Order: sequence, then C-alpha cells, then structure tokens
Amino acid sequence: MIRLICYLMGGKYMKAANFSYYEAKNIQDAIKIKANDEEAVILAGGQSLLPALNMRLSSPSCLIDISKISGLNDIIIDGDYLFIGALATHSDVMRNEIVSQKMPCLIDILKMVAHPAIRNKGTHGGSIAYGDPAAELPALAVATNAEIILSGQNGDRSINANDFYLGLFETAINQDEIVVGIKYPLLKQGQVFLFDEVCRRHGDYAMAGLIANIILSSNKVNDLKLVFFATGDKPDVADKTAKLFLQTGYDYDQLKNSLSSEIDFAGDLNSSSEMKLHLATILIKKIINKLEA
Ligand SMILES: Cc1cc2nc3c(=O)[nH]c(=O)nc-3n(C[C@H](O)[C@H](O)[C@H](O)COP(=O)(O)OP(=O)(O)OC[C@H]3O[C@@H](n4cnc5c(N)ncnc54)[C@H](O)[C@@H]3O)c2cc1C
Repeated sequence: MIRLICYLMGGKYMKAANFSYYEAKNIQDAIKIKANDEEAVILAGGQSLLPALNMRLSSPSCLIDISKISGLNDIIIDGDYLFIGALATHSDVMRNEIVSQKMPCLIDILKMVAHPAIRNKGTHGGSIAYGDPAAELPALAVATNAEIILSGQNGDRSINANDFYLGLFETAINQDEIVVGIKYPLLKQGQVFLFDEVCRRHGDYAMAGLIANIILSSNKVNDLKLVFFATGDKPDVADKTAKLFLQTGYDYDQLKNSLSSEIDFAGDLNSSSEMKLHLATILIKKIINKLEA
C-alpha cells in the first residue's frame, strides 16, 4: 500500500505533519496516553510508521514511543508456547538460541524480511500490530495459530491470530491496547512449518508468499494449513485448497481453480492478481518439494 501510494505521489510529501512526542516509561503509561487520545499511535521500531508519516499516509496527533520500556523484549518458553516480547527486534529473534532450537523456520522467514539495518530496528510486535498484508510475520502467526497478547486498561487479554486480522491494516487492537507479546505454540510430534516466497530482489516485500503448517505421519502429509501473504488484504487461509491437496496431491490446474475461488487476489505494482494466483499455486509445489528433499 505504502509502496503504491509513494509511487503515485512521486515522492511529493517527504516530511511528516506536526505531531507531539511522548516517551512512555512503562506499559501503563503508554496505555493511559493511548486510551485518552484516539489519534495517538504507538511508535516501536519506526520502520513502517515513520515512512508512512513522511508520506502523509497517516497524521497522528501524538507518537507514544514504547521503545525504551524495559522487559518487553523477552524471548522465553512459557509452558507449551514460545513467547516473543513485542519489542524484540527481528535481529534479536534471529540471533536467539531458543528460537533456533524451537522454531527454526522463524529464522528462515526473518532472513527474508527487509535488510539488516531495518531488522536491527523493526520489532516483532510492530510487524504483528501493523498487519501489512505483504508481511511475513502476520501470516506466520495465523499459520501457527499464535496468540497475540494485548495489554489495556482492563489488564491483559489474548486473542488468536486467526481472529486478529480483520482487513487491510485493520486488526482487533482496541484504542486503549498495545501488543505486548506473541505466543507461538511449540511444535508437536510430526509437525513442521515450511515457508517460501517469490520476490523481485532479496529483502523486498514478497509478490506472493506461503507458510504451511504440516502434520506428518509416516512421512506423509496428514494435515495441512496453507496461509498465503501478499495475496489479498490480510493473511489468506486456504482451507479448501489444503483439503483438495490432501485428497488429490499436486495438480496445478485443480489447485489454481480452488485458490481462485477461495482467495480474492489483489494485484499491486509488482504483480497482477492473475500473476499472484499463478505464484501462489506454484508455491504449494515449492513447499512440497522442500518436504520431499
Ligand atoms: C525498506 C523496508 C523494507 C521492509 N521489508 C519488509 C519485508 O520484506 N517484510 C516485512 O514483514 N516487513 C518489512 N518491513 C517492515 C519491517 O519489518 C518493520 O519493522 C515492521 O513492519 C514494523 O515494525 P516496527 O517496530 O518498525 O513498527 P513501527 O513502524 O514503529 O509501527 C508500525 C505500526 O504498528 C503499530 N505498533 C507498533 N508496535 C506496536 C505495539 N507493540 N502495539 C500496538 N501497536 C504497535 C504502530 O502504531 C504503527 O501503526 C520493511 C520496512 C522497510 C522500511
């Protein structure tokens, strides 16, 4: 979206409109300011928000900077979940030993997110909260049935990622809430997450991407959840197509027909909706090839 509008405006606005700035000392502090000003927004790593401000796609009254709040970047095992604090940067996550042991696919995915300078600032919670339909992490959260932990005036609540993304950059975060962490269920016996995407250059947003949650039994795919990104206005779950694949295996025409009936492919500057449909169909094959490799 940002990329399209920037192109259409020819870089016309490159300075943000005026806003006030507030450095939150703790979570309660941030929640209080946000609850009382519906035009205030959270600033985390600033890697998506600041370009949007400079292009005047957004003109909030106040930026509530949460980046200095301590204790929001933990990465720990919490019961049956891997918990990642909202302020853990993409680089923190990639370097983390627990992530490499418990959820190695997350590291492969983050290697495809932007470039090192952006990954050093961009946060896990920021990516989840922003809900860019072309971003990898929202699709991963949906594919893994992750829980998004929100903190608000009435305390904490947890919402499943499948219910969190409502539309284009639209999430279930209430005015008084901030994302404090994400809980990914730990892998079960026979479970693998596989990921692939097609992009023009390494680090660019994907033209189309797929994250598959696979349950293997005797080396065969026993259950499958397919979640596409950069295809529509939010992570696209393709249950009908997954079921078809389980019944018939990989058949390009059949799967393409099924995907076209299930997902409202939205073209962008890099690829038409028809191209995205083709790439999505091919991505299923690429994932299956990885499984067989
Ligand atoms: C050139 C470039 C290339 C990129 N390529 C990719 C890519 O390929 N894939 C990809 O996934 N991302 C990409 N990104 C985005 C990057 O991953 C960002 O880090 C991420 O989207 C947002 O994280 P942030 O911490 O910078 O959030 P910010 O920019 O600070 O905030 C983004 C939005 O989320 C809200 N927000 C942030 N944190 C919270 C919170 N804890 N609670 C509630 N709301 C919150 C903000 O109010 C804002 O609306 C790219 C960015 C750039 C500049």
